[in-house]
Amino acid sequence: MVNGAPDRAARIIAFLNTRDVDLGGDALATREGLHAWLREERGYQGPPPSLRQMGAASRLREALRELLARHGAAEAAPAVPADALNAWLAKFPVRFAAAPDGAFEVLPPGSDIVQALAGIAADAVLCQGSPAWLRIKVCQNPDCRWAYYDRSHSATQKWCSMAGCGNRLKARRHRRRKALASGRVMPPDSEAPAEN
Ligand SMILES: [Zn+2]
Repeated sequence: MVNGAPDRAARIIAFLNTRDVDLGGDALATREGLHAWLREERGYQGPPPSLRQMGAASRLREALRELLARHGAAEAAPAVPADALNAWLAKFPVRFAAAPDGAFEVLPPGSDIVQALAGIAADAVLCQGSPAWLRIKVCQNPDCRWAYYDRSHSATQKWCSMAGCGNRLKARRHRRRKALASGRVMPPDSEAPAEN
């Protein structure tokens, strides 16, 4: 569970937060790290990943971050580069299985690492059909980009924390407005979010 998020959303959030943009940490940056994470979080039982598979894991994670950053974004999000993404997603096999209780399942973790990564993509596909999907957010502070579950009543939260990222960005905007009003030139700011 991540802050009360349903399981599937929590798993997606946990995957995104294996990289800490703010502090520069990445739990999946080494073969050992990715191997351990897949074992612990995804039930993967196979051998350590190759460098190529490490690249695939990181690419999948950042593609998901880009997609989810659209949720609740202040400005109209640019179109997703769907063709490029689709060409790459085609490398992930998908298979279905029936559970004894009659539920259909997608991709129980297999021994192949590609299958384990496909399980993460499958979580995203299945989560899209639930209200939880739009509550998975990526902090709009570009220095943060932390993934979180938006539990606010109106689902309009923009930052991982108002006390941290929210206030920091508002203060930055305030300084910029004052500088504009006083005629001082400041560098272009692509980071400023709209007011909450
Ligand atoms: Zn943040």
